[in-house]
Amino acid sequence: MADYFVVDAHAHTYKTAEVGIQALGGAGQAGCNGTPEELIEILREAGIAKAVQVNMTPMREMYKAAVDKLSESDRGGEHPEIIRAMSERVKRRNRWTCELAKEHAELVAFPSVDPLMGPEEMAAEVEACAKGLGAKGIKLHPAEGHYFPRDERLWPVYAKAQELGLPIISHGGVFMMTDYEGGASYTKPENFEPVLESFPKLKLVIAHLGHGYWEDSISLAKKYPNVYFDTSAIICGVEHLEQLSEAETVELIRKLRVDHVMFGSDYPWFSPAASLKRFLQLPFTPSEKEKILGGNAKRILGI
Ligand SMILES: [Zn+2]
Repeated sequence: MADYFVVDAHAHTYKTAEVGIQALGGAGQAGCNGTPEELIEILREAGIAKAVQVNMTPMREMYKAAVDKLSESDRGGEHPEIIRAMSERVKRRNRWTCELAKEHAELVAFPSVDPLMGPEEMAAEVEACAKGLGAKGIKLHPAEGHYFPRDERLWPVYAKAQELGLPIISHGGVFMMTDYEGGASYTKPENFEPVLESFPKLKLVIAHLGHGYWEDSISLAKKYPNVYFDTSAIICGVEHLEQLSEAETVELIRKLRVDHVMFGSDYPWFSPAASLKRFLQLPFTPSEKEKILGGNAKRILGI
């Protein structure tokens, strides 16, 4: 479809259609199920060269569900054995994602970590994934995990990522899977400021252009050369969900700096093909399209 080298910088994959559909929680807009087989077929048909699999393993929720299963008298206090078990699940999922990327040239692995794992465990996982398993970056989801990006448990993760040159993609802005204020309070763009300030060489990607907090995203872009953005879920091809007009979208992305913004879909919530089709309709110049669609991802994510 496109005469451009296209990378979908933000997609989620699930082991089975059943797990994928469960993760979508009824909010899917594309009739997709999240399996790597389905994703690869969509990419091929749409002429998209690669997709970045950003892992989102809901560790906090899994932990809560496991504690809720305990008898009432056992529920209080800390549960290190449950933390360990959930931590292993996060790591297994990370390995699965990395394996897929080894098997399929179209897929790139961004494993995830969660502060519940503890600082040492997270830093060790980042190193293991990057050095031994071929991961190209790390995904964080503060809105799902109910933690702030400045959470000091994450400091060793940022330090390790900066040292290894690994970009970090984090959810940004409103989280559609929870209530508006609850989810977004963790991931307002301004909350990333301490991280950008303390780790000037870390490439930090705020997903969804900072969904809903456009002016905050622009302020960050003006101040920090190391902040980047992706367009996933914002330029999505689902008309009633697009909050910005064509002109506003182009203006926003130019203010965020065209060479700092990457095309993404948030598959399976949205379709990479429909997102690409919509993107191509926007009044960007061909050179801007080339950068946003794939040129920037090549450079920023090292793929
Ligand atoms: Zn996402």
